[in-house]
Amino acid sequence: MDVLTEDRLIQIRRDLHAIPELALAEKRTHAYLKRIIDGLDQRFITVKTIPELPTALLVRVAGRQPKRTIGYRTDIDALPVSEQTGLPFASKNPGVMHACGHDIHMTVALGILSYFSEHQPEDNLVFFFQPAEESRNGGKLAYELGVFQDEWRPDEFYGLHDNPDLPAGAIGARMGTLFAGTTEVNIDLVGKGGHAAYPQDANDMVVAAAQLIGQVQTIVSRSIDPIEGGVITLGKLEAGTIRNVIAGSAHIEGTIRGLTQAMIERIDGRLKDVGEGIARSYNAEVTVTLNQGGYLPVENNPALTKNLIRYMKGAPDVTYIETKPAMTGEDFGYLLSKIPGTMFWLGVEDKSQLHSATLNPDERAIQSGVNAITGFLTDRMTQN
Ligand SMILES: [Zn+2]
Ligand SMILES: [Zn+2]
Repeated sequence: MDVLTEDRLIQIRRDLHAIPELALAEKRTHAYLKRIIDGLDQRFITVKTIPELPTALLVRVAGRQPKRTIGYRTDIDALPVSEQTGLPFASKNPGVMHACGHDIHMTVALGILSYFSEHQPEDNLVFFFQPAEESRNGGKLAYELGVFQDEWRPDEFYGLHDNPDLPAGAIGARMGTLFAGTTEVNIDLVGKGGHAAYPQDANDMVVAAAQLIGQVQTIVSRSIDPIEGGVITLGKLEAGTIRNVIAGSAHIEGTIRGLTQAMIERIDGRLKDVGEGIARSYNAEVTVTLNQGGYLPVENNPALTKNLIRYMKGAPDVTYIETKPAMTGEDFGYLLSKIPGTMFWLGVEDKSQLHSATLNPDERAIQSGVNAITGFLTDRMTQN
């Protein structure tokens, strides 16, 4: 029987780091996790796999006198990044890297699971090893497949993300939103091309696109509460082919971010208004497509978050830091829109940012994270 000591956890993290896999392709990662879990004390454990989502893994730990079922989620996928850390356990899969620290997330989850496999919890626990966080919305896929039903339905859900800006092992949290919501937007303008010398016979979409891009800048500055904030970035513009031909069409791609779903919907709505206005004034066809590839904001449940912060602040061996929200996205927002819960940070102090090819999280965070979270969960289970 395997007991996951700190040394063992660090070895596991390095093994996982060496075999990063992209969203929905986490086959070796799944097999590795399954092997570790099979090696744990099985008295209270049930494992579940999902045929339609084969790289996902759920583990239930039966509680002694359950008042509730507590969910704990870790993501398991990696990114299309070529690792440049030079570490001995660097990625063996060219062009793929755990550059978001999901190897740390998985290892912490295994550490917590290992602890509760030997110290039967009061409440039931459901661990969700989730594929496809970076793209493809793995949390939503699992939820829509009906994975969280009956004894597999958490009453509340917790999850963490590593954070290189915080000291190794520190816990960061905040009331409200932790990660912004995102919408991906495509805008197509169609007018009429023509010779550069005869503008009266054409309908120039470079001019219309320029006007639209300019007007979009007023959405955040004039339609959004400055205390709340929001972001629209139009990062890609394509129009025209050559200097002396008037462009008959233009294509723009961008992303919208906000801290609440209401804010995102407000920005989405204003963007459509601007598109319609440009269509009318330029006698063009303007299509604004807000695709659903975006992520819901990670809106933390007030009562559960307050309780987590209370514990982390009071625990003598936990360094607690209140943080700002991140304008990046996290697909845990979807599960938290269905099941109340909270997401928090685990400090992994590093000079490199998440998604960078040189990210090298401080491994001392692993055992500290396991201790803080097992302590928190044990405390939660004493509450009614
Ligand atoms: Zn990421
Ligand atoms: Zn991540």
